[in-house]
Amino acid sequence: MPAVSTCLAPSCGTKVEGTVDPCPNCGGKMRTPRTVRAMGWLLLACGVFLVGLMSYLWVVLAPAMAHPGDLTGGTTFTGTAEQARTILTVFGAVLVFGLGSIGYGLWLIVTGRRSIAMMIGVLVLAAVLIAISWRAMAVLPG
Ligand SMILES: [Zn+2]
Repeated sequence: MPAVSTCLAPSCGTKVEGTVDPCPNCGGKMRTPRTVRAMGWLLLACGVFLVGLMSYLWVVLAPAMAHPGDLTGGTTFTGTAEQARTILTVFGAVLVFGLGSIGYGLWLIVTGRRSIAMMIGVLVLAAVLIAISWRAMAVLPG
């Protein structure tokens, strides 16, 4: 299926093949493959940032958290083993969410089209992430 431009006016919703702006039907603004790709780059950048940050934190913190109270790798984790597991689970969830946005971002860039299924997938990942973080707040002090 080729990339299409979609009219942003809900009452119009005209779809035209290729990059067309403004709308040939009502003259309103169109969502073009170019704006979809721009959103893709944004998602990709966010995803890469999240994955990079989480990988870094994991590498730095995981050794210390595996041995609470010990001085491992120059940092001491003073919480319990359960808190350590919870924090690493949150990191893992953020990591998966980051990978999800990278995946959807690449899809947007390559196809220039939105994918409802992939968008729902990313939203579900976001919901899971929020649920895990919410539960983590109950375990963690402060
Ligand atoms: Zn229109």
